[in-house]
Amino acid sequence: MTGAPADSRALRVAVLGSGVVGSQVVRLLGEQADDLAARVGAPLEIVGIAVRDVTAPREAAVEPRLLTSDASALVRRADIVVELMGGIEPAKTLILEAIDAGASIVTANKALLAQHGPEIYEAAEAAGVDVYFEAAVAGAIPLVRPLRESLAGDRVERVLGIVNGTTNYVLDQMTMHGLAFDAAVAQAQALGFAEADPSADVEGFDAAAKAAILASLAFHTRVPLAAVAREGITGITADDVTSATASGHVIKLLAILERTDGGVQARVHPALVSNDHPLAGVHGAFNAVFVEAQAAGELMFYGRGAGGTPTASAVLGDIVSVARHRVHGGQGPTESTYAELPIATPDSAVTRYQVRLRVADRLGVLAQVAGVVARHGVSLEAVRQGRVASDGIAELIITTHQAREADLAATVLELSGLEPVHTVDSVLRVEGS
Ligand code: NAP
Repeated sequence: MTGAPADSRALRVAVLGSGVVGSQVVRLLGEQADDLAARVGAPLEIVGIAVRDVTAPREAAVEPRLLTSDASALVRRADIVVELMGGIEPAKTLILEAIDAGASIVTANKALLAQHGPEIYEAAEAAGVDVYFEAAVAGAIPLVRPLRESLAGDRVERVLGIVNGTTNYVLDQMTMHGLAFDAAVAQAQALGFAEADPSADVEGFDAAAKAAILASLAFHTRVPLAAVAREGITGITADDVTSATASGHVIKLLAILERTDGGVQARVHPALVSNDHPLAGVHGAFNAVFVEAQAAGELMFYGRGAGGTPTASAVLGDIVSVARHRVHGGQGPTESTYAELPIATPDSAVTRYQVRLRVADRLGVLAQVAGVVARHGVSLEAVRQGRVASDGIAELIITTHQAREADLAATVLELSGLEPVHTVDSVLRVEGS
């Protein structure tokens, strides 16, 4: 371990990555140097910035003399390593090397923490150094600290979050402007909200990684990424959006984390959210997380979930925290897994559903559909007839009361084979009520 430096000695900061986030962290470390030194109790000195290509053009704030392609050597001469390169390797090895050398870690890398967090937290605990990761979930929004510290005395029951700005932008464009899915994705790409390959976002992988991290924090239990049930938004059609609007809902990609009788439920999927729920008003690429805690009640965290400068704000906050610990002694909160709650299986999830069917437009069909639903122990909350096509086929929209996922799946299977049912066009969960 490098040991805690004397108050006046500058803390050596190594930044791994100088892309969208890293370049803004470097800029702000320079621009805010005096304020940060006063808040920390020692100056912060960037000793190197690791990148792949040291010759590539960079932001003016990124001094060429600081660039290196030897990240491994860099992390061994730092008090604080700020990992902003992303991906699993070499980020994981570099973080473990840095911890081994006694450095504190700040990272925004959700993919790495969702898959290998426990190994990193254990190494840090053994070395007595911090691992802070506020920027890994919901960018600029303070969420990790509230869950780890502010709510440490409360019991979190449920977390509902819009934690992926790209998918929120896409769904919002479909809802507000009637765009088809592909057109909305293309627009998100043109505006820089979506990658050229948008699959990590639209297939729900990014949100699932965040869900695993949030569930572990909220329920003091290790929730591996593999335990998060995941569905993306690629199946959402303009008809789904129109139908949602007609029933007073919007479609959102939600991360849903619940404490249930069967243990911790963690799932990511598109869901209908009632227009009067606070999450329904989250537009564009914004993120918001709704937390229900036993004593605190309902809390809502809202803000920018991505972008270089907003994310850098969260990274800077973490740098100040870990730097203070190095100057003044002490360590931040470590991983808390004492509860060791079981992980509930996805098919035990209980929620409301809306099923959209196309059926023959004739007497008695409704009774047949209702009979199938009842046979599987699912109870109907509402039935609405949608458009009647000229070919004698009508749209039927049924909303259920709370039902088990397994029962609903069996219901849909039987409905699909029912003679007057032409197609089951969509099955969407209804959340947040
Ligand atoms: P980015 O723009 O792709 O930048 C990645 C940087 O890391 C680049 O400077 C790249 O070097 C460097 N790098 C990548 N692999 C490397 C390697 N093997 N060795 C040395 N340097 C390497 O990424 P970003 O958007 O800033 O994201 C960084 C992290 O923040 C990720 O974990 C991401 O999930 C997280 N995050 C991002 C956002 C956001 O809005 N972008 C929000 C929240 C969290 P070159 O420049 O030479 O290619």
